[in-house]
Amino acid sequence: MRPIKKVYDNILETIGHTPMIRLNEIVKDFPCEVLAKVEYFNPGNSVKDRMALQMIENAEKEGKLKPGGTIIECTSGNTGMGLALAAIVKGYKLICTLSDKQSKEKMDVLRAMGAELYVCPTNVPPEHPDSYYSVADRLHKEIPNSYYPYQYDNPGNAQAHYDSTGPEIWEQTEGRITHFVVGVGTGGTISGVGKYLKEKNPDIQIWGIDSYGSVFKKYHETGEFDEKEIYSYITEGIGEDILPKNVDFDVIDYFEKVSDKDGALATRELAKKEGLFLGYSCGSAFQGLRQLKDRLKPEDVVVVLFHDHGSRYVGKVFNDDWMRDRGFLTTENSTAGDLVRA
Ligand code: PMP
Repeated sequence: MRPIKKVYDNILETIGHTPMIRLNEIVKDFPCEVLAKVEYFNPGNSVKDRMALQMIENAEKEGKLKPGGTIIECTSGNTGMGLALAAIVKGYKLICTLSDKQSKEKMDVLRAMGAELYVCPTNVPPEHPDSYYSVADRLHKEIPNSYYPYQYDNPGNAQAHYDSTGPEIWEQTEGRITHFVVGVGTGGTISGVGKYLKEKNPDIQIWGIDSYGSVFKKYHETGEFDEKEIYSYITEGIGEDILPKNVDFDVIDYFEKVSDKDGALATRELAKKEGLFLGYSCGSAFQGLRQLKDRLKPEDVVVVLFHDHGSRYVGKVFNDDWMRDRGFLTTENSTAGDLVRA
């Protein structure tokens, strides 16, 4: 864990030590305490600052990233922001490949932070030459003195959460945590935190939140990589059509799937009921937990991790027209409509 200082020498030193905030109104019908680890308090407004810096520091130590080098990464946006902070402070160039379903706000933010972007089609398989994985791979081969962290398989990703996020959660709950709930994309967050917490107390339940259209839940339950599970969905950051090495299926006790609509409505509900202005996958994480609440007992202490900030989704889940166009709002009155589930 990085030390807390009176004066930080640069923005990277402010990563981590995010607050744990009790949920109140929205969990009135839960039997137990529910705490939120709110990761938008990181300087890049997401949990991914932690792993981005870790991957860069590891690469520097291993001699894979040299002065004047170029970092190339495929990202849903948040890792790109973390890498942008590291690139600026440490003097590297940054190129990000993104899929075209990522929000305009994420792309604008990355450009504002000096990154060069390649926007790639979402609806192509990972091995297609235009996929955001393939484009990053090609650029890495073409550009001399470049480093491609590839967050899906990079051990620095889960390591960052084992070294910082996990210990913070353990300390902030004074070891009382019984359940950890989080959305799963590359798997770095759940695997690093899950491993740390299980080492402290193997009884802690680790629940991963997956998206309809993703392979994780079926693979976890059957060991089968079922291509029939794969179809495109709107939620950003969680679920995959590949099996990243960073998903440690052994530390995960259960996967729950959440629909695009229910995740979007829960994101809006968290803002209005708790004052937490969060990203789309945070609504999904909470909704997944809500779907599982009958498994909880009064003495349980649940921690749900919220990945990023709502400002990256103002044109999406927080935009009534966007919600209506997708049939996510069920009445003309958006405020009442948020609470109606058709
Ligand atoms: N939510 C958001 C918004 C994300 O950007 C990510 C990262 N892909 C996740 C959830 C999932 O986190 P992880 O990659 O650590 O599994």
